[in-house]
Amino acid sequence: MYDVLIVGAGPAGRALGAECDRRGLRVALVEEHPDRPWRQTFGAWDDELPAGVPVAATAPVLRAMTTTQHTIARPYSVMDNERLRDWLSTPDLPVHRGRAVQTVRGTTGAAVRLACGRELAATLVVDASGHHRALAGHVPAAQTAYGLKIAQDRVAELVRPGEALFMDWTQPAATETDWPTFLYGVPLGDGRVLLEETSLARRPGLPLRELRTRLFSRLHARGVRTDDADVEKVHFPVEQAARSSARVASFGAAAGMIHPSTGYGLATSLSLASPVAAAVALSLPNGPAAAETAFRKAVWPASAKLVHQLRRRGMESVLAMPPNEIPRFFEAYFRLPAHHQRAYLSGRTDLLGTLHAMSALFGHADWPVRLRTVFAALCPRAPGVAA
Ligand SMILES: Cc1cc2nc3c(=O)[nH]c(=O)nc-3n(C[C@H](O)[C@H](O)[C@H](O)COP(=O)(O)OP(=O)(O)OC[C@H]3O[C@@H](n4cnc5c(N)ncnc54)[C@H](O)[C@@H]3O)c2cc1C
Repeated sequence: MYDVLIVGAGPAGRALGAECDRRGLRVALVEEHPDRPWRQTFGAWDDELPAGVPVAATAPVLRAMTTTQHTIARPYSVMDNERLRDWLSTPDLPVHRGRAVQTVRGTTGAAVRLACGRELAATLVVDASGHHRALAGHVPAAQTAYGLKIAQDRVAELVRPGEALFMDWTQPAATETDWPTFLYGVPLGDGRVLLEETSLARRPGLPLRELRTRLFSRLHARGVRTDDADVEKVHFPVEQAARSSARVASFGAAAGMIHPSTGYGLATSLSLASPVAAAVALSLPNGPAAAETAFRKAVWPASAKLVHQLRRRGMESVLAMPPNEIPRFFEAYFRLPAHHQRAYLSGRTDLLGTLHAMSALFGHADWPVRLRTVFAALCPRAPGVAA
């Protein structure tokens, strides 16, 4: 019988597991693929990360191209995944290999059944199994991207040394649909740069083949050689079932802790792991119900729930926009003072900051974008677009 059993040993599950272990709780992880390396290129704003997180490269400045060029003086880092995994491991934290297939709750806690038939019991079971829990009953909005890892000197024109490219909304020549995508570029710390053609959020996600065509079109137009480049493919939902976490306490992407407008979630999981583990440790002596209540309050305080609703409205207004308005929307966003930009991107519990940022954005936008925003606020969900 464990105090805490966490299903999923991705970054969120490991971060929470390590913090529970450090507080002396009996904790274990269940992971289907414990030896599989983390292949995603994880990026995050430095000021959102807990101190000491191992990074592979940091860009002190980012550029964004919308209808004009903007500079963002906010350091941004790409994680060193291997060292991050070690950093999130504690010597006494067991990882059970297996696929969790069912959770059965009882009065003294819950049991997790694995596909092999084995059962593991704990006072508190946490689902940290990632994005797979897509919205039941409708197609979720998804972020998709197709990326290539290319030697820095070949693409210095696109991603200048010492910089990262946050978004370039200049549209490539070859496109099958008019859905706008942007180019994202980050140094990887090994002499290469990841260049990724990205569709921020779309319902359903823009197909990867279209993103691939666009990226090659951009790069070949500049004569960039791509034959030896490694590929990164991105596809994950940016919205979760309204109450996907209702049945089991959940953490990380499984709990919908992904910013619906940007797809960022890693830094939130890493920084929340410590306070959430502290809340659980404090409440466990009072039994499973108390531990679960404390867990939920620590993950989703009322302010975070309200901010999340506002962020979802923000995502809906972008989804409702005609494609040609999206770069103008981001132009208005990057014209905002830095503190408003930061509040909207990073203020997970900053309700006032998010509201001020959204009203400032409304003030900076042109009329078609403003009307679209009002429409999205009144209409709970933008219609899907044809694939
Ligand atoms: C290619 C890609 C790039 C991304 N880039 C960024 C980025 O730059 N910045 C950012 O903030 N976010 C990024 N994201 C979003 C990112 O997925 C999350 O931030 C992060 O991975 C979420 O971590 P997690 O631990 O919640 O979930 P995951 O990383 O998905 O980990 C879940 C774990 O649970 C395991 N699992 C699943 N089901 C079971 C089961 N039934 N039984 C046992 N184990 C199970 C899986 O094997 C996996 O190891 C990216 C996503 C992708 C796909």
